[in-house]
Amino acid sequence: MSYLFEPPPTVAVALAGSDALFPVRRVYCVGRNYADHAAEMGADTREPPFFFGKPADALVPGGGTVAYPPATANLQHEVELVVALAGGGREVPVARALDLVLGYAVGIDLTRRDLQQAAKEKGHPWDMAKGFDQSAPIGPIHPLSIAGHPTSGAIWLRVNGELRQNGDLRQMSWSVAEVIARLSGLVTLAPGDLIFTGTPAGVSTLARGDQIEAGVAGLGELIARIV
Ligand code: MN
Repeated sequence: MSYLFEPPPTVAVALAGSDALFPVRRVYCVGRNYADHAAEMGADTREPPFFFGKPADALVPGGGTVAYPPATANLQHEVELVVALAGGGREVPVARALDLVLGYAVGIDLTRRDLQQAAKEKGHPWDMAKGFDQSAPIGPIHPLSIAGHPTSGAIWLRVNGELRQNGDLRQMSWSVAEVIARLSGLVTLAPGDLIFTGTPAGVSTLARGDQIEAGVAGLGELIARIV
């Protein structure tokens, strides 16, 4: 037996301080995990976390240039702490959830906000608002030996040098351990999974030519340019 055509390449993210690459299996994202962003979206700020996904090949490892996507007049940025898993399991208790973590990265959850708004109004899925091509720039994964488990510190995003998002990891409604535990009650997690953990307030509209600098304390800055 042989494949009809060449299977797609494995998407991989660099590991800081190493030549090894992190092979990606799935990309999960948390909706509304910072109260101030939930409020700016007009949502209940104490709602339990919910999840959506992006295709692994929507990642843009290392950032760089991102093509402005079709079918939107309102492309927005969401800077996020991303968790990289080297372990897996299902129904993982909160107390053991961090054992699954390999490290952390800076990510940007690019969103076609107009499509998302229309989907919300009609009760339609968010896939086309969130999971489009090049919708997830991501920086190198910082292993625990470098970054530990960041639970506080700045998370920010600038557009053309202007500060748009300026939060702190302490503002997360649900901790990384709680997010992993809850997600593992819905799906079986596995090595290679990434979890985007939500964004603080300040999301705003991007235009072609915009330069984005997104960062999390201890994890460096990710630079992406919309072209
Ligand atoms: Mn997001």
